[in-house]
Amino acid sequence: MNQIDRRRFLAAGALGAGAALTGSLANARPAPARSASEPGDEHRGPCVVASGNGVRAVDKAWEMIQAGSDPAPAVVGGVGIVESDPNDMSVGYGGLPNEHGVVQLDASVMHGPTHKAGAVACIERIMNPAAVALKVLQETDHVMIVGDGATRFAVQQGFKEQDLLTDRAREAWLRWKRNGNPKDDWLDNDQIIRFGEQQGMAPGDAGAIPFTYGTIHCGGLDGAGNLAATTTTSGLSWKIPGRVGDSPIIGAGMYVDNDVGSAGATGRGEAVIQVCGAFLAVQLMEHGATPTEACLGVLERIANKTKRRDLLDDNGRPNFNVTMYALRKDGAYGSACMRPGGTFAVRDETGPGRRINSVVLFE
Ligand code: ASP
Repeated sequence: MNQIDRRRFLAAGALGAGAALTGSLANARPAPARSASEPGDEHRGPCVVASGNGVRAVDKAWEMIQAGSDPAPAVVGGVGIVESDPNDMSVGYGGLPNEHGVVQLDASVMHGPTHKAGAVACIERIMNPAAVALKVLQETDHVMIVGDGATRFAVQQGFKEQDLLTDRAREAWLRWKRNGNPKDDWLDNDQIIRFGEQQGMAPGDAGAIPFTYGTIHCGGLDGAGNLAATTTTSGLSWKIPGRVGDSPIIGAGMYVDNDVGSAGATGRGEAVIQVCGAFLAVQLMEHGATPTEACLGVLERIANKTKRRDLLDDNGRPNFNVTMYALRKDGAYGSACMRPGGTFAVRDETGPGRRINSVVLFE
């Protein structure tokens, strides 16, 4: 069986498990016996997983869990390192802004033992939105606070308001804005007049216009079998102000069921929201899928539900990427991506945080 067939075979297994659960896939093939296993299938015991940009996050969360921390503050502490890094243009400080040049952040966190969740969306001027989401979880009866209310809540909780737009992100935004519409009043990148030390620059030599779907997800399991997870992002770059992605939506970009496992997503949030991605991954695990199969099952669901022509390639497969991450209550873990390129980070008793390629659905 070649690699693609094997992946699809595994995914069919996961979807079969889902069919047993919901009855909504009554005609789906039954779950076949597994033909191969992924490395994370066999792991048992405490573990921290994250998206591929979270190697430092898993190390930090692991350290905290080993020192006796509850997994919720541990995963939030882990992703905080990446949120505060000005060189990471996808999350927190230094994240790429919306179409008005304003950095708006989304984050969520969920705590397995209490089954309580907290989230913030479109929060501005606060560097660590996952920590604010944790305060929503700890201090309020609400699940989600958005916009100005979220910023005000954060300030009340002692978070410092600050400008999150780094010069690098602002420059990238200007490059995007200049080239957006040839008929607008902004000169295109190759037309702008430069003086002084920039005079020698070739026209348009201002660097590529970056575009990110960038996010960090982190899930942690302690020695007592308790889980927590968080997902935090600056969202889609150049988004329409007020746009909320999947990251702060409980059950879409992140979900925890302490009896089953945790899951999270990065990539095209609109696609993940429309299949309740993280919730579906946890449900698939509850009904027998391994973490990798659960991730593949979500991606298959997204592929089946993507109808818009502009979102499909010539083979009718989604032309965007989504990467799913899952951690089961016993310590098994896995990740899968729609298209090549997805990676995830793992920290367990075998050694420091390491990055692993996610299983690919469509090679
Ligand atoms: N999922 C995030 C969103 O849609 C972006 C990402 O993961 O890159 O906001």
